[in-house]
Amino acid sequence: MHNVTLNNGVEMPILGFGVFQIPDNETQAAVEAAIAAGYRHLDTAASYGNEEAVGAAIKASGVAREDLFVTTKLWIQHAPTGNVQDDSKRAFENSLTRLGLDYVDLYLIHQPLGDYYSEWRAMQDINKEGRARAIGVSNFHQDRLVDLIDHNEIVPAVNQIETHPFHQRAEDQALMIERGVQIESWGPFAEGKNGLFTNETLAAIGKSHGKSVAQVVLRWLIQRNIVVIPKSVRPERMAQNLDVFDFTLTEEQMGAIAGLDTGDSQFFDHRDPAMVGWLGGRRYN
Ligand code: NDP
Repeated sequence: MHNVTLNNGVEMPILGFGVFQIPDNETQAAVEAAIAAGYRHLDTAASYGNEEAVGAAIKASGVAREDLFVTTKLWIQHAPTGNVQDDSKRAFENSLTRLGLDYVDLYLIHQPLGDYYSEWRAMQDINKEGRARAIGVSNFHQDRLVDLIDHNEIVPAVNQIETHPFHQRAEDQALMIERGVQIESWGPFAEGKNGLFTNETLAAIGKSHGKSVAQVVLRWLIQRNIVVIPKSVRPERMAQNLDVFDFTLTEEQMGAIAGLDTGDSQFFDHRDPAMVGWLGGRRYN
């Protein structure tokens, strides 16, 4: 497995396993299968409602804690105590308890909404205490990322954003490189939207390497030095999605995939007022 080195020296496997939308009662089996297949990097969130099941799978796997890289995410805090910083620390303790861990490898602010400056100050403390080896953000557009960096002590190690062949984020990545932030893709397959798995360009490239569309997409992201966390509940696909280190896309193939960019989300825009209201109304602690 290849690693990327984050801005604080922490090593992060470039390929991991995402568990969004895996029902709680199926998550333990899926994560156990993923670890058995060889995944050592797991991506969950308080809002996914399956941290306990991820923790149970980690325990059942018998793999040493230090050999795993575990990410979870802080949901938008609503300050029932009137202090977002305190509530963020409480939410972190709740995530650790549900995971059955005494530290995480990466803790992310899930959404660029609400009082995320106070959330970030809590994260900085958690990082200094060594209870999150690295801290970062998710779904931050360029303006908010720069502002957060410029007005705080610790530069986010990671920004996890929607990134796939139809929304390639080249400008976002260039800014992140300039600012020392590692880009991580969520939704590497766009959850299959826009016919991704039957896309002719991707299929033809796959055929030339004896690989599937999914493998071409993951390889393309990895060749761009983007961390990927594909999700699957099927063991054969888990194995397939890991098997992307024995071929290389040519410059021409990278260029052909670059031509698939639409520059737009396949899901929603975090700057859409209706979405800001909807996300802001949800509660996970
Ligand atoms: P993905 O783009 O990873 O797509 C998952 C879908 O692809 C599932 O329907 C899966 O089906 C299918 N699939 C997986 N592998 C293959 C394959 N080899 N061939 C064909 N189909 C395949 O979507 P996600 O939204 O799950 O994104 C990945 C991860 O990113 C999440 O699990 C989560 O950890 C993170 N994420 C973070 C967000 C954020 O706001 N920070 C938002 C969304 C996701 P099946 O399971 O049946 O195999």
